[in-house]
Amino acid sequence: MTTVAIVGAGFSGAALATHLLRRHQGAPLEVELIERGAEVGRGVAYARRDHEYLLNVPAARMSATPSDPEEFLRYARVRRAGISGEAFLPRALFGDYLSSILREAEESADPSVRLRRIRAEVVDLELNGEGEPRAVVLADGTRIESDRVVLATGASAPRLPAGIRAELAAGHQRRDPWAEPRPNPLGRPLVVLGMGLTMVDVVCAAVERDAKVEVHAISRHGLLAPGQSERAALALADSGGLHEAGGSTRRLFAAARVLAHDTERRGGDWRQVITLMRREMPALWRALAPVERARFLRHVRSYWDVHRHRLPGEVLARIEALRAEGRVRLHAGRIESLRSVGDLVRVTWRPRGGGAPQALDAVEVVNATGPDHDVTHFPDRLWRSLLARGRVVPDEFRLGIRTAPLGAVLAADGRAAANLFYLGPLLRADHWDITAVGELREAAVRLADQLSVGRP
Ligand SMILES: Cc1cc2nc3c(=O)[nH]c(=O)nc-3n(C[C@H](O)[C@H](O)[C@H](O)COP(=O)(O)OP(=O)(O)OC[C@H]3O[C@@H](n4cnc5c(N)ncnc54)[C@H](O)[C@@H]3O)c2cc1C
Repeated sequence: MTTVAIVGAGFSGAALATHLLRRHQGAPLEVELIERGAEVGRGVAYARRDHEYLLNVPAARMSATPSDPEEFLRYARVRRAGISGEAFLPRALFGDYLSSILREAEESADPSVRLRRIRAEVVDLELNGEGEPRAVVLADGTRIESDRVVLATGASAPRLPAGIRAELAAGHQRRDPWAEPRPNPLGRPLVVLGMGLTMVDVVCAAVERDAKVEVHAISRHGLLAPGQSERAALALADSGGLHEAGGSTRRLFAAARVLAHDTERRGGDWRQVITLMRREMPALWRALAPVERARFLRHVRSYWDVHRHRLPGEVLARIEALRAEGRVRLHAGRIESLRSVGDLVRVTWRPRGGGAPQALDAVEVVNATGPDHDVTHFPDRLWRSLLARGRVVPDEFRLGIRTAPLGAVLAADGRAAANLFYLGPLLRADHWDITAVGELREAAVRLADQLSVGRP
């Protein structure tokens, strides 16, 4: 009997377990799915919350099964009649779907494979002399012998960007953007750090809760995500010459701009070029030397992020309407300090392009700068132990952890593990931007095939 322990059951862990159960036949296999939270298939993104947060990808593109693109849409249609594939559905519904396909996979799995769900926190791995896993260790000291381990623990809560002087009372900073807001009886403004999709979540929940609240979002570039396209897709079949420009950040993005103009001129949509780049990016990223990656992160990343993570049209329209009413204000600038002043928090920032510092007294500051991928800051015992033993290493840009193809974890000596894998957003250190369902589901299927004992 081979045992595979999957640590974490957000999208990555739940999708991997589902694909393993569906695909495995042959030698006996036990899959231990270990999640510290109450539910599987939710993680941060698909949790049930008071506010109905929406997916930012249309239903027809959210299947967890690459070979069955309409799987989620079919599930949703049974529950909400008449919805179109282009609809942006609630994220919690997607979580329901993930737990449903896992349950179905469990019920129809080959007798050679069995799933055991365990609610616990994994705090350590027991390793053999080669650095390969022997067992996972739970918070209560229980050890579960495991031949193979997959870390599917996601990223960590956002951290304040470097360089901000912060003298903040605990209640003045909301680290979890989806948590309950601080009571605001005097109708003070709310400040959000960051201008990505999480900021939009915070705004939508805040205005639903408090019809008068004024929200100020501050980010370095002041760029709001564009909307998803409603125009017909034009297939971009080949790689559009991007690989010829590979190796140089400047040439690569010049080629992408030309391709986007050309696609628009032919009646297409620049968003298709982003889709194409997402497909090609793992190989393009690997072709960039460290100095070129540094250039990308310094000059291109903000623009990449803003064009890559787009908003449902109706949500963008809502934000624009709130801006027109003056209820939402977007500021481009660099935060200098956050300071508790009595019952409020004083936010001081320097506007982009110069000018005198601005200040605002707010009820609280919500950190919506995005998940932290720098494992050297993760508070979890598991990660601290793996780092201390050199069993995992961060990349030099702190984008995630070093992995080989399929997510095999690299140790400090550069050797790839045979039986220890990572699946989730930290893969971007070596494969760039494997954060959305579209990429993670492919990675989950590839890893399921690798782990499935008895498959060729
Ligand atoms: C708010 C938000 C909205 C998103 N919306 C979309 C979208 O609309 N479309 C799209 O394609 N993508 C979306 N994404 C991106 C993508 O789906 C997520 O990044 C993806 O869910 C990552 O899943 P994960 O399982 O790797 O990590 P997580 O979701 O973080 O799950 C990790 C799980 O591991 C558990 N865990 C951690 N450590 C331990 C431990 N030591 N022991 C036991 N359990 C542990 C955690 O409790 C958690 O349940 C969104 C992401 C976010 C954050």
